[in-house]
Amino acid sequence: MQYPHLAKSAKIRIAAQAVAAVLTVQIASSQVHAGLLVAWLAILGAALGYGARVNASLIDADRRNMLKTEFHRHGMAVGVYAAVWSLPLLISAVRGPPDALMEQCAIVAILAVGSAMIVAAAPLGTIIFTIVMGLMSAVCFAVTGNYSMVGVTAFFMVINCWGAAETARTFLEARMAEAGMLEKSEVVSLLLREFEENQADWLWQVDTARRVRLASPRFSFALGKTPEEINGKPFLQLISGDMWETGQFAPSLHDLAERLKRKESFSNLMVKVTIDREERWWELSGTPMLDDTGTYVGCRGVGSDVTEQRESSEKIAYLARYDTLTGLPNRLMLNEGLGEALRYAEQWRARCAFLMIDLDRFKSVNDSLGHLVGDKLLAQVSKRLKSLMGENEMVGRLGGDEFAIVIRDASEKGHVEAIANRVIERLSQPYKIDHHTLYVGASVGSAIGPRDGASVEELMRNSDLALYRAKDEGGGEHCRYEPALHASAEERRQLEFSLRHAIQRDELLLHYQPVVDANDENVLSFEALVRWNSAEHGMVSPAKFIPLAEDTRLIVSIGQWVMEKACLEASNWPAHIKIAVNVSGEQLIEPDFASTVVRALAKSGMPANRLEIEVTESIFLRDAELARAALEEIMALGCSVALDDFGTGYSSLGYLRKLRFSTIKVDRSFVQGAANHHPESLAIIRAVVAMADSLEMSTTAEGVETAEEAEMIRQLGCKKIQGFYFGRPMPAEDAREVLIRGAAPRQRA
Ligand code: C2E
Ligand code: MG
Ligand code: MG
Repeated sequence: MQYPHLAKSAKIRIAAQAVAAVLTVQIASSQVHAGLLVAWLAILGAALGYGARVNASLIDADRRNMLKTEFHRHGMAVGVYAAVWSLPLLISAVRGPPDALMEQCAIVAILAVGSAMIVAAAPLGTIIFTIVMGLMSAVCFAVTGNYSMVGVTAFFMVINCWGAAETARTFLEARMAEAGMLEKSEVVSLLLREFEENQADWLWQVDTARRVRLASPRFSFALGKTPEEINGKPFLQLISGDMWETGQFAPSLHDLAERLKRKESFSNLMVKVTIDREERWWELSGTPMLDDTGTYVGCRGVGSDVTEQRESSEKIAYLARYDTLTGLPNRLMLNEGLGEALRYAEQWRARCAFLMIDLDRFKSVNDSLGHLVGDKLLAQVSKRLKSLMGENEMVGRLGGDEFAIVIRDASEKGHVEAIANRVIERLSQPYKIDHHTLYVGASVGSAIGPRDGASVEELMRNSDLALYRAKDEGGGEHCRYEPALHASAEERRQLEFSLRHAIQRDELLLHYQPVVDANDENVLSFEALVRWNSAEHGMVSPAKFIPLAEDTRLIVSIGQWVMEKACLEASNWPAHIKIAVNVSGEQLIEPDFASTVVRALAKSGMPANRLEIEVTESIFLRDAELARAALEEIMALGCSVALDDFGTGYSSLGYLRKLRFSTIKVDRSFVQGAANHHPESLAIIRAVVAMADSLEMSTTAEGVETAEEAEMIRQLGCKKIQGFYFGRPMPAEDAREVLIRGAAPRQRA
């Protein structure tokens, strides 16, 4: 870095030497011969020429290593013209007047000082020249006896050498610092380029007026413009779309503007920006820029477009809290809402409420018309529910056809009732879906917090109990939670527990009820009816435990046991007596139902045509196709199938045509209705008989209790009769006895 300066200052130095040479020639012209002077000038010119060549070769010294010989050569060159300049000194000391020596010394001193200043970077030459010239002058002064000038010369030598060295050191330090800075800025720009090229992020910079400065290509790309278009434009104008005109910024933009205004630094600030009329999300970080004096000159930072990440995380958050089918809050959000309402109620000694809603008959819609219609129905239900909600309520879907409402403040009397009734009324109105008009109802169970439960779980459980009660009472009702519900739920739980062990403990038994010919009153068959003599609960009615067994799927094993036991018993009876066995829908859709029947028949050795399966219309509510297939399978075995409790359930007559039932059993309620001379009951029985006749099916009247009823049924045309009048359900031994005696024991009313 030092030596190239020699070449750069060559011209000015040669000019200085020329002036000095002219002055020297003028001084010496009176003392020496002109020829000698010309010779000296020629030598000086040659020496300067040589020095210039040496210096020129060092022009690129800052970009390579200098050789030792180059140092030597440079020193030599300086030494040579120092020697050339010694000649006039010697001559003026020897030949000239004292003034000539002084003048010559002054010229040489000017050259030395000039050299120190002009080639401050490379002091070696100056120092060699100063020392050689200084020594020579000192000698000259000493020879002429001017001793004081010897001291002056020595002093000059020291000062000039020291000054040259010192200036060179300062120069070098400055150069080194500069080089360091240059390297640093090169590294920084390298890093920035790397950053801009490889990341999705970009750099941004604004000035004190928040206008964009030095826009990078990536940043302008993010703005959908070129760098020229955005430089100097207000940053907020570029990202705020139409809001810039109105001055009404979205909250995140407002936040950014505030931070820029306050000259604050910020990191990972989420800002909703509008670019080309499209809304996007940016994540921005920024730091204020200060100049050397600490004045704020703008702000810069990095940013990236995080729209996609944010959208997917928003979607995830939405999915976690909302039901996709209905768009209503889901169980999680209801939980949170109820928790908040409870906390509020506790804090302000108020009351909140939780309402559980279950659709009545939704299952039958779903099963008969398919899930697509079911889903549309749920969407309409949720729309109706939403329309009923106010500020104070939140409605959500718990799953399936269960919905729930959180009432934040239920302190007002009758508020919960009013909402529950409105919900039932609104949801019970008909729905129009794909040309179908559908009727479903709703049942509601409610619990008040914190009275009926201090925690979310407790409140939910208790309103569920109330809902269970509402459904139990036939649906379309609102039940409030009462502590007594716990008792019945607990009883049910215990009943279920005992029922699980009923078969192993041999607590189940079968009773048999005779079915007689309507005309000659001979026993045609027996219906097997299960009884449970529980160790814990005593005699439990099938009306109570069969639904429980169906709910808990215990009916499958119970049904299997009944089937085997009934067939085994019937195998002891005369060959023309049939056995009827009740089968629930749950059993029917079991994949191995037919094999259960086959096993029972095989074990007992009874022919299949003596077994009659009784099913109710409700089996067609679940999976009608599956049920039909199962029934056809056992019909193929030779068994017959009776339709039990006809007229009480789902009334679609289509399946009567599709399935060859052997018998239609007219429900007891119609028999009793007819006995009480209800015209509808009479009409229904007549119609069922007529229909069964035309479809070549038999009819059985259930629940005939008196001779008059039996007579009336006979008149109406029923083929078979079952009822207390001809025999109550009886133990196996009694049934055998009836068969031995050959007639059913009549009971006079
Ligand atoms: P179901 O199949 O309709 O059975 C007839 C029911 O009517 C029996 O009630 C019977 O005792 C009763 N009954 C018969 N004649 C008269 C009468 O003259 N007056 C009155 N008031 N009632 C009469 P039970 O034994 O209580 O059974 C009730 C229901 O439980 C049955 O109705 C049947 O659906 C179900 N069930 C009984 N045993 C079984 C079984 O082994 N499996 C299945 N899945 N269900 C069964
Ligand atoms: Mg039955
Ligand atoms: Mg029945």
